[in-house]
Amino acid sequence: MEQDLFVYNTLTRKKEKFKALNAPHVGMYVCGPTVYSDVHLGNCRTYISFDMIFRYLTHIGYKVRYVRNITDAGHLESDADEGEDKIAKKAKLLQLEPMEIVQQYTVDFHNVMHQFNALPPSIEPTATGHIIEQIELVKAILDKGYAYVVDGSVYFDVEKYNQTQDYGILNGRNLDDLLNNTRDLGGQEEKRGKLDFALWIKAKPEHLMKWPSPWGIGFPGWHLECSAMSNKYLGEQFDIHGGGIDLMPTHHTNEIAQNVACCSKNPASYWLHTNMLNVNGQKMSKSLGNSFLPRELFSGNHPVLSKGYSPMTVRFFMMQAHYRSTLDFSNDAMEASEKGFKRLMNAFTLLDELKASEQSEVQIAILQQRCYDALNDDFNSPVLIAELFEASKIINSVHDGKIKIDTHNLDLLKKLMQLFIIDILGLKNEQAGNDELPKVIDFIINLRSEAKVNRDYATSDKIRIGLEEIGFQLKDSKDKTTWSKI
Ligand code: AMP
Ligand code: ZN
Repeated sequence: MEQDLFVYNTLTRKKEKFKALNAPHVGMYVCGPTVYSDVHLGNCRTYISFDMIFRYLTHIGYKVRYVRNITDAGHLESDADEGEDKIAKKAKLLQLEPMEIVQQYTVDFHNVMHQFNALPPSIEPTATGHIIEQIELVKAILDKGYAYVVDGSVYFDVEKYNQTQDYGILNGRNLDDLLNNTRDLGGQEEKRGKLDFALWIKAKPEHLMKWPSPWGIGFPGWHLECSAMSNKYLGEQFDIHGGGIDLMPTHHTNEIAQNVACCSKNPASYWLHTNMLNVNGQKMSKSLGNSFLPRELFSGNHPVLSKGYSPMTVRFFMMQAHYRSTLDFSNDAMEASEKGFKRLMNAFTLLDELKASEQSEVQIAILQQRCYDALNDDFNSPVLIAELFEASKIINSVHDGKIKIDTHNLDLLKKLMQLFIIDILGLKNEQAGNDELPKVIDFIINLRSEAKVNRDYATSDKIRIGLEEIGFQLKDSKDKTTWSKI
């Protein structure tokens, strides 16, 4: 690979030079949504961040197999193996089949990802489609002596595992520390230790989603599916495992324990975690009641929103923060992103109108390297965006005749804007999304030009003001009129 990419690895708590196990192939697993309700904007932030990472890895020459699962069984209301299955609970409430719930929210998730222009993963496996693999994994862990069976359920023995392995390796905490900070077993006396977690759970008669197993009728624990599916599609060891930082202390810690117990290997070389989208300093979360849905944001139809914002404005807002920093949602921040995104896209649109000169007063290769440097530094999208604003300034200055650019540099500038804005940040020109619109505006501009030629300035002004009122600004130069969205 031509680029030296550095990524922050949660496992070692350092930035490390990225080295694929089997270059040019890269295996990347990202924990997907539990499809019992609409994904909220916080969930979207995590998937959009990994979409940008997927796009960049692909651009620099890796052949990425990107696996993102759909959790359609096994995720209980509490991560401590308590409560009902989230999907089954919703199905009962709505008197639907659990698979109707799964279908509805999977389709919704795909639609939302499409609106955000996120590429589909290479494989999107479901937990219910991999029950056999999960049962095999439980058997292997039992064979290795790291699990025990109690009355039809199977639990992972964390204290036993920790005698030879490091259970807290991912969050850098030792077992005593973890034990002291975990509440008592209250109601879960089948478990031998406070940190033990369920691999297989015996189903009560009224439980809706259940399967036969060597231990009786039951269903898999939530952490198990990701170990089983990453192992199946990416092998015992692969390159990148990702998810939101909230999954790190329990879900990912348990995933590592399961894989090490069965295969003696930490499954992923690099663990990447996105930080949370917050509202007033608090994680956006369904259970905290401070979440809102992408469609509410697009329409502005929510009490905390002063107006709606387009999907690309929201994606731009997310890309303006580094994926490992928290990002606070506010109307003011959205307003600023909307302006910034328009500025960037206006410059992008102007590119086609630039004319090359004999000489160049700008060297785009230097700017291009700075864009790569930003992404090679742990996918630093905010620094990349700052460089793209530098590129926009150059575009505007060339357009206004303030500086000159030659053919070679103009060509590089066009490629740079296309590559980083469209291909890697995954932003789209929403104005261009409607193919007919530019033609209609150009037609109106021609009518106005005719009016001007006929000295009908009243009509010409009427058209200019009218277009401005609906969000299009006209700019007259000596030989033509151009337009941009306000
Ligand atoms: P869940 O469906 O709750 O398992 O969450 C799906 C994904 O969204 C996981 O990777 C979570 O870590 C992530 N996530 C949940 N809440 C937020 C948030 N407020 N900001 C960013 N990511 C989140
Ligand atoms: Zn997972």
